[in-house]
Amino acid sequence: MTFRPALALVAHDAKKDDMVAFARAHVDRLAGFDLYATGTTGARVSEACPRLPVTRLKSGPLGGDQQIGAMIAEGRLDGLVFFVDPLSPMPHDVDVKALTRLALVYDIPMALNRCTADMMIGSPRLGAAPRS
Ligand code: PGA
Repeated sequence: MTFRPALALVAHDAKKDDMVAFARAHVDRLAGFDLYATGTTGARVSEACPRLPVTRLKSGPLGGDQQIGAMIAEGRLDGLVFFVDPLSPMPHDVDVKALTRLALVYDIPMALNRCTADMMIGSPRLGAAPRS
């Protein structure tokens, strides 16, 4: 079976339009990934780009972020795009902190804003090798 890299997408409410724009801009590249997203983020991305294979997890506040954290810990993700809203830091701070920590522990690429996400998705190294 061919290896398909996996990428997780999460966006706070004020950043969901940015996530949709990101998905539209990179739809061809993203089509090569298995995508996992928190509930509302996933709905928005699927609606904007119906051909993308998005698995929707629970909504962030209902545990979707933690599901993504578990996937990182299990070695099932090759990258995380988490568009954080810096203007309403509470009560999301803990979610950002928890996922940042796991991305550091397992050394997976994590983009917190559009600029970094564009660089990450543009890199041929993203998802190039099967996860160890
Ligand atoms: P949502 O969750 O995609 O379900 O809105 C994102 C979040 O706020 O963590």
